Amino acid sequence: SSMAGCKRLSGACLREVLDEAQGLLFDCDGVLWTGERAVPGAPELMERLNQNGKITLFVSNNSRRSVAELERRFSRLGFRGVRGEQVFSSALCSALYLRKRLLGGEAGDGDSAASTPGRVFVLGGEGLRGELRDAGLRLTDEEGDGDEEPPGQEGLPVRAVVVGYDDQFTFAKLSEACAYLRDPRCLLVATDPDPWHPLSSGQRTPGTGSLTAAVETASGRKATVIGKPNTYMFECIVERFGVDPSRMLMVGDRLETDILFGKNCGLDTVLTLTGVSHLEEAQAYMASDSPSAKDLVPHYYVDSIADLIPGLDE
Ligand code: PLP
Ligand code: CA
Repeated sequence: SSMAGCKRLSGACLREVLDEAQGLLFDCDGVLWTGERAVPGAPELMERLNQNGKITLFVSNNSRRSVAELERRFSRLGFRGVRGEQVFSSALCSALYLRKRLLGGEAGDGDSAASTPGRVFVLGGEGLRGELRDAGLRLTDEEGDGDEEPPGQEGLPVRAVVVGYDDQFTFAKLSEACAYLRDPRCLLVATDPDPWHPLSSGQRTPGTGSLTAAVETASGRKATVIGKPNTYMFECIVERFGVDPSRMLMVGDRLETDILFGKNCGLDTVLTLTGVSHLEEAQAYMASDSPSAKDLVPHYYVDSIADLIPGLDE
């Protein structure tokens, strides 16, 4: 195999790569859709992959929506037949992680706090809170009864702070998070490390990574980051579906999260140019002498995932 990489995926090479693949992992925003608009040809690609017997799974760093909301979004944007089980969001995987750590999911998990599971303090919205609740975790500040805790839970210690995308982030919330984190038994979990995201207006919105940096700085703690480029979401996928990493492709639009994630998981990687990263950035990483830059160079690139369709059978 060549060291170079970053090769346009088309023609005979495209056919061979898709023939050999057991399945594909797709990042969502910037790959399948941008804002409320599906990438042209993306819904058709998903149907054709299904017809060709390929596994299709979705990995998103976006912690705003619950899996149920994402499932409805797929359907609304014209992706028919995508089921919730195919979707691994940073919100869902954060909930799976905390369920294991706080409710003792695994036998022989020595440091499990199962005797006092405690509560979770969330910086984030309803989508994230819903996933955490569905995993059986108890949250602080449950809405409905103001500042009152449900009867019997007033004394439960806070065992984790979760930082997700929180457009209601405040100094008061930052202070409260740091107060809980003074206790070394309180875990600090971040849904994703994304610095910012493009908006359809051309503006940018700060991402979870920027909020996590504030919490880390003020608390002196280091967060466990669930989302890409870390491998935890892929571990959840392997646990659920038993896929073979050497036969899965990762398709994404951001080199520093999606492509690095694919490399960290041992997958072949495809950059699509409908989102955040530009081809020139991939080429600059390829030309760089820095050893860590290699992991940011995709194996292949396409202008849009619609370009994968010609590699499939009718
Ligand atoms: N987090 C937030 C808040 C976002 O708005 C987005 C994309 O718009 C993402 C994360 C990135 O999501 P994905 O990993 O699907 O590109
Ligand atoms: Ca993306």
